[in-house]
Amino acid sequence: MTPLTIAIDGPVGAGKSTISDVVAQRLGILHLDTGAMYRAVGLAAMQSGVDVKDEEAVCRLCKEGKAQVDVNYRDGKQITLLNGVDVSALIRAQEVGGAASVVSRYPLVRKMLVARQQEMAKAQSMLLDGRDIGTVVLKDATVKIYLTASPEARAQRRRNQLLEKGLDTPFETILAEVNDRDYRDTHRQADPLRQAPDAVLLDSSDLSFDETVNAILALVEEKQ
Ligand code: C5P
Repeated sequence: MTPLTIAIDGPVGAGKSTISDVVAQRLGILHLDTGAMYRAVGLAAMQSGVDVKDEEAVCRLCKEGKAQVDVNYRDGKQITLLNGVDVSALIRAQEVGGAASVVSRYPLVRKMLVARQQEMAKAQSMLLDGRDIGTVVLKDATVKIYLTASPEARAQRRRNQLLEKGLDTPFETILAEVNDRDYRDTHRQADPLRQAPDAVLLDSSDLSFDETVNAILALVEEKQ
């Protein structure tokens, strides 16, 4: 049987990662958070003392095999490896997210990670989430979803997450960051974020977490 492939793309803060985790679990398939792989390359540059803005130096690191990113699974949970070391926790730091957003612009970095993602999705049924899954990585995915929400709804969710961690950040500051990231993701040259023509648009601004999960599961069932 051909493997089931689900592509979920969308802007920052749309809840792709947590929602994808639950959808994949409910379907009994693996979830690959591709953002984690870009974060691992960003971390590789930081750990090697390479300026992330120096494209040539970052690419050299990749070519020399000093930014080898791999993914495996423990109890269905993604473990992201950098040069064989589990960096799943380290890559969640805010500065690593910043580094990832810079290195993800470099075509060589994208080529290296996209090849690995395609290889993984060929071997088994999978759900991939990212920015270019439906447009580049899995052009023939069984189901493509473009998951979004208004910038205000995404900024409010982010503010709530930070409040839970005891950080009270002004709404306007977070909204400016969301708008900034949206601009960078949609305007970069290499594989910019855009909705694939055959993707279903799902706006979760007025949907709860469970409603969003159920809407995706219904789409998968419909397409299967
Ligand atoms: O999703 P997350 O914030 O963890 O992604 C980290 C960075 O990697 C983002 O800045 C995003 O633009 C980039 N990325 C990408 N392509 C993907 C997944 C993430 O360019 N498929």
